[in-house]
Amino acid sequence: MYMARGLLLVISGPSGAGKGTICKKLLETNPQIRVSVSATTRKPRTGEVDGVNYFFIEKEKFEDMLELDEFLEYAKVYDNYYGTPKNYVLENLKNGNDVLLEIDIEGALQIKEKFKGGVFIFILPPSMEELRNRIVGRGTETEEDIKKRFGSALDEIKQVIKYDYAVVNDDLTRAKEDVEAIIRAERCKVMRVYEEIQSRF
Ligand code: ADP
Ligand code: 5GP
Repeated sequence: MYMARGLLLVISGPSGAGKGTICKKLLETNPQIRVSVSATTRKPRTGEVDGVNYFFIEKEKFEDMLELDEFLEYAKVYDNYYGTPKNYVLENLKNGNDVLLEIDIEGALQIKEKFKGGVFIFILPPSMEELRNRIVGRGTETEEDIKKRFGSALDEIKQVIKYDYAVVNDDLTRAKEDVEAIIRAERCKVMRVYEEIQSRF
């Protein structure tokens, strides 16, 4: 797989950096972007809806899907399994839609092996102190889960070197605009449009 017609946007970063918030804002003004809904063995948080936030499934079902090669990538993150269902992504890319994956680093690196045209964006918090404030302030995890997530953050940030772009989420609007600028620039990359140019001239 080399060139897909839509852009495969892969967004990662430590828990609490603001990936979900940026993605939500991005989708409000970019209706051509489709979001891949991941499958997970994690239990739903209050307010999360099956099929919207995630497909919440049991470990046995996850293992069945793995066996049937239904995931584009998968990883164990903070003690639970998460995976990207393959068909949705491939279908949308083929139809010219951009597809957004918000996944962890291990999964992102699996995608990098498979898609030469993927766009890899790392979201950073302005500081570790602010990261802690955001994880705690979100109020969705237990104290133990907060420790786990915050404890992994520094190691995760070291992996930024493997990504194409780093976006610091200090001001939310600016961070969202940075991601939009990346998307615009990626669409102009010669390798993406070369075939089209050749067919016209
Ligand atoms: P992630 O998806 O990376 O785990 P979230 O999007 O859930 O992070 O954001 C974590 C918390 O930080 C949320 O409570 C969110 O409202 C808040 N947040 C996100 N971006 C900003 C920002 N630029 N400034 C202040 N708070 C933010
Ligand atoms: P959360 O439990 O906070 O929703 O997500 C925990 C972590 O799992 C986040 O870093 C998130 O990006 C990652 N994640 C969510 N879906 C997937 C997926 O399909 N694959 C992988 N590899 N990671 C995922």
